[in-house]
Parts: sequence; C-alpha cells; structure tokens
Amino acid sequence: MFPLYILFLPTLLVAAFPLNDDFAVDLSYLGERAFSKPDPKTGEKLDSWNETEHGNPEELGEYAEGDIVFPKQTSRNGMVAGTLRWPNGEVPYEIAGLYSAKDLDVIKKAMDIYKKYTCISFRPRQGRDRDYISIANGRTGCWSSVGRIGGKQQVNLQSPSCTTKLGTALHELMHAIGFLHEQSRYERDEYITVAWNNIKRGHENNFDKAEKGSTNGYGVNYDYRSVMHYSSKAFSANGQPTLIPKDKRYVDRIGQRDGFSRGDITKINAMYNCPEKTLEIVNRTGTITNATNAHENESEQSNPLLSAAAGLFSLFMH
Ligand SMILES: [Zn+2]
Repeated sequence: MFPLYILFLPTLLVAAFPLNDDFAVDLSYLGERAFSKPDPKTGEKLDSWNETEHGNPEELGEYAEGDIVFPKQTSRNGMVAGTLRWPNGEVPYEIAGLYSAKDLDVIKKAMDIYKKYTCISFRPRQGRDRDYISIANGRTGCWSSVGRIGGKQQVNLQSPSCTTKLGTALHELMHAIGFLHEQSRYERDEYITVAWNNIKRGHENNFDKAEKGSTNGYGVNYDYRSVMHYSSKAFSANGQPTLIPKDKRYVDRIGQRDGFSRGDITKINAMYNCPEKTLEIVNRTGTITNATNAHENESEQSNPLLSAAAGLFSLFMH
C-alpha cells in the first residue's frame, strides 16, 4: 500500500503553483515592494519633467522598479506569486481621468498599435466585465500593476508627463497585460552592467533581477530596444549611467519610448498564444525589423504599394 499523501500530491502542487492557462509570469522576486500606495511626491516630481530631459517619466516613481504598483488589499501573504493573462487577449478599459484631447489621442494611438501588431485588444468596458483597467490621471506618476489582478485595476497616466511619449502609454499597458522590465530578466548580467555606485541610495532594489527560470523571454533574446527597458541613467545619483550595455552599439539607445521593438511584438504574441499574428506582420510588411519605431512602420504600411514592394524585396533578399 503506497502512502496516502501521494494521492494528495497533485492537489498540493496545484495549490502551490497556480499554473493554469491564465498564468503568465512569476513575480515573487518583487516581494513586498510590489505593494504600495499612489504617492503624491511622485506626482510633484513629474510636474517638472519635460521631454527634453534625459530619461523617462515612469523612472521617476517611488514605486517598485519606479512604476509597478499593486494595491495593498491584493496581498494575502505579503507576496504576489504570479500574474494572470487576460482571457483571449481582451482587455476591457474605462477612461476614468479627465484628459485633454491630445492626451486621449496618445492613449488611443497606443491601443491602436496593440491592435495592429498583437492579438491584444483594448475595448470599452461593458457592464458584464468584472476585470478591467481604469485609466486614471491621478497626480501620482505613471504606474500599473503587472498582469490581470482581478476586478478594477488602475493604470495611472499623469498628464502631461505620461501622455507625452507614445511609448510611455505602450509601456504601462504592457505591464498591465503581464510584462516586467527588460533589465530585470534573470540573464541580464550577460548583456548589461549595473553600475551600482551610480544608483541613488535606497533605490538599488529597483535593479533586482528575476530568479532563474521564473521569467520567460518567450524565445526572444535580451532586447536593448524593448519599450520595457530602462534608460541608461534611470535612478542615477550623479548623472552617470546606471546601466551600461555590453554591446556598445546600444550604449545611448536603451530606454526608447517611440514604439514597440520587434522583440516586444514577438513576446506579446507568444504570451498570448498567437504567434501567427507576428508571422502575419512579417508577411504583410516583408520585415518587422524596423518596428523599433512604430511610427516608421505606420507610414510604411499606410502606403500599400510601398508595403507590397517591401514584401517583394524581402522575397528576393531571403
Ligand atoms: Zn515600467
């Protein structure tokens, strides 16, 4: 007779690791830091941010890694184990904040880019939607939770700082669908040097990395051009770089917020089980290597002749 506990083992495993279809990414490395309250001090700092300044507004926040916020009440044991996907890639949303037409245009453009390049669709919330994102204009910075947390979840885009660059909206929405920062990948030390001495004291754990095997790059190599990568002087104490790419070609190029990189698109479509969407884009445009700037791709595709020519070109070149 085998021990009785063997019968219960599968149940225990399921309870400990909620690995179901919805499960996306292990967030345990964030620990208790994941939980915080919207902070007016961050909002004040953002009031003086402007586009010409080096760095991104979401890197000014006093939250986990600058812009990751889980509401306190979601914590049962002081940890957030993992995050969930949105069923069928559908993300119901409401715009709760008061925004200018220009702000709304940026938010709408970001959502359109998701629709065009990925199988994520943002759609206005209907009464039956229990889980949804609420886009708010609190004076507390640019921030989001990671993945679907259940019920109403806020994505804060403080105007005008967080609605200036299209990539900031793409970035926060990419957290909301389940992605972490690129430089927190467990293998990042092979690609980037963290200059610990240049980091503002008390902000070192913004540069923590995930446990080996806990994040899934979905087969995409470390991506310096990701819209989820920090800029080189994020959380710098002295104006010197905190992140130095080992590939010197990228020294001044990390932290772009112009659009999705090819890797971003590939990863989103892989997480949401629609790799065919990435292929469709490759077939339509010939290549998505230029998608590091979604604006460029927009113009490329708005001209069907140019697009067809690119397709032919690609055909001959491969
Ligand atoms: Zn972020």
